[in-house]
Formats: sequence, structure tokens, C-alpha cells
Amino acid sequence: MRNLSERGILTVVSGFSGSGKGTLMRELLKHYDCYVLSISATSRKPRPGEKEGESYFFKTREEFEEMIRKGELLEHAEYVGNYYGTPKKFVDEKLAEGKDVILEIEIDGAMQIRDKYPDALLVFVTPPDAKELRRRIESRGTEDKENIEKRMRRAEMESYGMAGYDYIVVNDDLEECTRLLHGIIQASHYRPEHQREFLDQIRKELKQED
Ligand code: 5GP
Repeated sequence: MRNLSERGILTVVSGFSGSGKGTLMRELLKHYDCYVLSISATSRKPRPGEKEGESYFFKTREEFEEMIRKGELLEHAEYVGNYYGTPKKFVDEKLAEGKDVILEIEIDGAMQIRDKYPDALLVFVTPPDAKELRRRIESRGTEDKENIEKRMRRAEMESYGMAGYDYIVVNDDLEECTRLLHGIIQASHYRPEHQREFLDQIRKELKQED
């Protein structure tokens, strides 16, 4: 069926640290070529194996604050003591090219996006239960004990914001979850707010028919 919207859909994917949303994003990009993932800037130190410009653009706090001052970020937030933010230029360019752009960001940033882009789609990814969340954070082996507790407390706080999202997806089975997320995003193309040009066109045509 013809896809009526020409611009891409801006999708925010949030989830507790340890929800498996990073793996989910990799699966989505591997299976479908309509998506691009925005690379965030952060003042957090790289974890082993993380690469500049692939995982994040790693910045000092001063460099990050300079990006804020220059208006280069679409949104930004502090998370467990570090800055995170979305570079604006890349997102605007890719949406105009018709790509569906994914922002994998936390909840404060998600709410800023909702204010600036009311048509954005907000999806929250969660593990099936709190025990599984703790197990996933611990088994990653990248956080010390204090940071694990901080991330669990942060998850509790974030759980109150989940209801503000458009969809909540339980990440239990990776393949199923990938297909579900793809379906949700693609269905959004057919919502009236993404079909304004088509609506204008068909109204004009029908008027001429009168
Ligand atoms: P991590 O340190 O585990 O890579 O990321 C911590 C949190 O920051 C995650 O919830 C992640 O989604 C979020 N995050 C990553 N990039 C951005 C961003 O550009 N903006 C915001 N607001 N959050 C981000």
C-alpha cells in the first residue's frame, strides 16, 4: 500500500537502563533499512568497547554546555550525574529525507521532544519485572554497586512517567519485540497528523469536483 507521508516519523524509545532497548535498536536497524538512529552527545566516560561517533559523541561537561549555548541540541537532560543530548541537525536532515529517526533517550528528554514535536511517537520499553531489570543491569558488568542502585532508583522514578508514552512494549522476546516496534512505527505513518499534505491535496481535488 502507498505510504502517504513523505517525512519520516520521529520515534522516541525510552526504557529503564537495562531494559534491553540498545539490543532492540540494533535488531531493528539490522532487519529494516527505513530507520536511522540518532547518535547522542554525552559527558559520560566511554565504557570499554564504546566508540566515538558510534555509541556517542563523548564530550567534556564544558564542551556539552557550549553545545547547549549554541542551540545545537534538540533536547538534553542529566542522567545519574552526566549530560546527555540529541544533536539537532542530523535529526532534521534525516526526517526531511523521509527516514524514520529513532531517539533512544530517557524520560526528561522524551517530554522535551513531545513539546517541540507534538507528532513524535513515544514508546517505552520495559523488562517483564523488576527482578529481571536488576539481573540485566548486574549481568552487564559495567556499573559499580552504587551506580546499579542509582539506576534502580531512577527506574522507580521513571515508572511514574511510563503512562505518558503512546505505547508500552515488554521486551521479553527480542524477535517478537522488534517486529512489534516496527509495526507500531510503520502504522504511525497512516495517522492523520502524518498525512497533512495528502489531506490538503484530496480536499482540493474534491472541491474542484463540485
Ligand atoms: P547510558 O549511560 O546507559 O548509555 O544511558 C543512560 C540513559 O541516557 C539511557 O536511558 C539513555 O536512553 C539515555 N540517553 C542516551 N542518549 C540520550 C540523549 O541524547 N538525551 C537524553 N535525554 N537521554 C539520553
